[in-house]
Amino acid sequence: MKIETKFDFDDKVWACSRKMVYIFFDCKFCEGTGELTAKNGEAITCPKCYGRKGHRENTQRQWVVERTLTIGEIRTRSRAERTGFDDEIYDNFGNQTAEYEEGYMCFETGIGSGQIHHADTLFLSHEAAEAFCKEANKEADNA
Ligand SMILES: [Zn+2]
Repeated sequence: MKIETKFDFDDKVWACSRKMVYIFFDCKFCEGTGELTAKNGEAITCPKCYGRKGHRENTQRQWVVERTLTIGEIRTRSRAERTGFDDEIYDNFGNQTAEYEEGYMCFETGIGSGQIHHADTLFLSHEAAEAFCKEANKEADNA
């Protein structure tokens, strides 16, 4: 059996992940400056936003191109498709569907233990990573 993987050791890849994205709304009372100016020219802290200049609100989690990583460990798991017995109580004698998983561990996020990056979320170019995020966010908006 020969397994071909999407990436090789030491490949530099762009990683995408789902993150909470914030939108900042300027305070309307002070127009986002955080202070008000009195008629004598003295500045006081805005009583509506307490000098915070506005507030932020969570948006939906969005796919973003997060960082570049270097492949250091490749993990694959594959299962053969097999026709078994329909009324079998033991899984190993029953029908099984083909499965394939490909994960990567990277020098920047831990080899052996740490984060496992799914093959579908890693790309060889920034452009490809951005295109993936754009498409994934479009699907999320329609859901
Ligand atoms: Zn304010």
